[in-house]
Amino acid sequence: MSEGEMADSIKHVGIVGAGQMGSGIAHVSALAGYGVTLYDIAEDRTSAGRDKIAATLDRQLASQKITEADRDAAMARIATTTDTAALGTADLVIEAATEDETVKRKIYREICPHLAPGAILATNTSSISITRLASATDRPERFMGIHFMNPVPVMKLVELVRGIATEDATFESARHYVTALDKTISVSEDFPAFIVNRILLPMINEAIYVLYEGVGSVESIDTAMKLGANHPMGPLQLADFIGLDTCLSIMQVLHDGLADSKYRPCPLLVKYVEAGWLGRKAGRGFYDYRGETPVPTR
Ligand code: NAD
Repeated sequence: MSEGEMADSIKHVGIVGAGQMGSGIAHVSALAGYGVTLYDIAEDRTSAGRDKIAATLDRQLASQKITEADRDAAMARIATTTDTAALGTADLVIEAATEDETVKRKIYREICPHLAPGAILATNTSSISITRLASATDRPERFMGIHFMNPVPVMKLVELVRGIATEDATFESARHYVTALDKTISVSEDFPAFIVNRILLPMINEAIYVLYEGVGSVESIDTAMKLGANHPMGPLQLADFIGLDTCLSIMQVLHDGLADSKYRPCPLLVKYVEAGWLGRKAGRGFYDYRGETPVPTR
């Protein structure tokens, strides 16, 4: 096979984790014409992922971004499963499960025996070392980071990250796939949290310190950054959107990986995660989402 044919060889995408990111990746892949197998540990998770995709496609249809035929064809391309063996038909498998290295390692142990020998395995991790995750697979040369942004159907950027062993053909296949999704690529070296989150998460963590120290309320901090720095969302609103568990994991990876105290997670962030107030997905975080409009929780 020539390098061009290799790059073009992805037809079917397997996705592990049907949460916010996995369902988004399934959505954009199916709209771009890829067959999709969406895997999660339980049926309620895969069906919630499927419902979310259907709802977002409907919104895109209502705003005339896609046609009814596009929506129907995309939904028809998505199969959901709780059986790891179903990932065997995929040319590319993207792991988008919980941001926890132990969980990701366990997933690779479980799925690798079922994958096609030539299949590429990628991770959507926000922060964990690609080289270290690759070492937990049977295919470090066909392993890399394909890091989508949230919400996947809206955000244009995808970071591509090579591990030490990633082969050029793997990288080119990933580049081809991401380009076919009409996304823009930014290439990052394999350092903790890559580019976007290395810069973004310390800002969010600092906003939580500002809240913790009583410098401002949730509302005043978010208003300050929206109107004072022209950010489309306040940092606490954004933290809730990302998920506070994911925010904490990324700060821990930065703190451990770069061994600099400036990355220490704010104790208030830890407290919210311990309370299970994980942000939007849990109905409560820095805002309470259970009513009509979000209400600050501090
Ligand atoms: P999420 O909590 O919405 O979804 C995680 C999903 O993983 C859940 O459905 C869970 O059931 C599933 N899962 C857990 N263990 C599993 C297992 N053993 N096998 C299969 N599925 C399993 O989380 P998310 O926000 O979608 O994040 C997923 C990944 O994407 C993380 O690595 C995160 O760092 C990354 N990411 C998140 C964002 C964001 O803004 N939330 C942005 C970019 C990348």
